[in-house]
Amino acid sequence: MTSKPLSPATIAARASGAIDPATAGLVPGIHTATTYIRGADNALIHERNSYARDDNDTVRTAEGVLRELESAAETLLLPSGMAAAAAVFRALPKGARVVLQSGIYYGVTHLARTLAARGDIVLEEVDAANPEALSQACATPADLVWIETPSNPWLKVTDIAQAAELTQQAGALLAVDGTASSPVLTRSLALGADISMHSVTKAINGHSDVMGGALSCTNPDMPLWSAIRADRHDAGAIMGPFEAWLALRGMRTLPLRMERMCANAQALAEFLSAHEAVETVLYPGLPHHPGHDIATRQMCGGFGYLMSFIVKGGADSALRVKGRLNLIHRATSLGGVESLVEHRATIEPESGIPGGLLRLSVGIEDVEDLKEDLAQALEG
Ligand SMILES: *Cc1c(COP(=O)(O)O)cnc(C)c1O
Repeated sequence: MTSKPLSPATIAARASGAIDPATAGLVPGIHTATTYIRGADNALIHERNSYARDDNDTVRTAEGVLRELESAAETLLLPSGMAAAAAVFRALPKGARVVLQSGIYYGVTHLARTLAARGDIVLEEVDAANPEALSQACATPADLVWIETPSNPWLKVTDIAQAAELTQQAGALLAVDGTASSPVLTRSLALGADISMHSVTKAINGHSDVMGGALSCTNPDMPLWSAIRADRHDAGAIMGPFEAWLALRGMRTLPLRMERMCANAQALAEFLSAHEAVETVLYPGLPHHPGHDIATRQMCGGFGYLMSFIVKGGADSALRVKGRLNLIHRATSLGGVESLVEHRATIEPESGIPGGLLRLSVGIEDVEDLKEDLAQALEG
């Protein structure tokens, strides 16, 4: 036996070695029982299994693979990415001070603002990709710092190790939403994050057919984590066994999909930045991107599958380009095997997102086909 840790491709392909112990089937089964039998002596026959809100082996197996991919001590699956984010915020003590990165996934921003308006938390939104701004926000004691890297849809890159140091100075815990890079590309916990959050709906499942969210930590004894675990139990925010099984199947190819998606995204980002109809491309893999150096240090194996590009001529022109696409689907979401495009200003009109911005989630299609589709749409 060697002590070298297994690589993500190996962990994922073999689902961490999970099989179906009851039949020796190579693939773990889907366990649908909501409750478990006790023996004549009143003891649980299977000591870990009492009731399915907490006890489900399919969910545990999927959690186990993610836990290993994250090098976490504990991973919890929840029924959506937002359920995962909400569990963290709900677990905070009343009146907790939260430093939230600005310009991130709108659902998280909206949730935090709602909790702040209700007086549950004290919220400060800050451009956390700017170390001075984050340092200033962390000069005041806080409970939680929430960042997202790369951010959606601005593709800002935050230095997780540096953010962890600043967070510690504020006496806070650092949570990182790594959805746009997946646990394969960014190892948030190893870089110093206390909690790593992912929308499983996106690249982790990767096939646009499951909703899910995940939270992982290295120290399950911290009070916030116990509160999160209790919240999942009390609020009943659990993932169902069918979803867990599909996510488990999806995860087997996560590292492989990431490889192709990152290569495709890099090629498309380069193609788009050389195109005369395009004003700017926001993608950390481009050398001129302000977060390129940090991303090079902090991401392994590529710069992710998500990018935004600004079309010359504003919203009308961007919507025309989007309307002319034939292969790339016009739909929200990201991280699936098929490429998706979205006009974010339509979805978030008040956010200050430029009208010409199109967000592109790059899939695993043939890159020349994607390039051709974009070329004809931009030239049309
Ligand atoms: C989609 C997404 C979420 C929310 O996940 P759901 O599974 O849709 O609830 C959170 N953060 C980011 C960055 C996302 O892209």
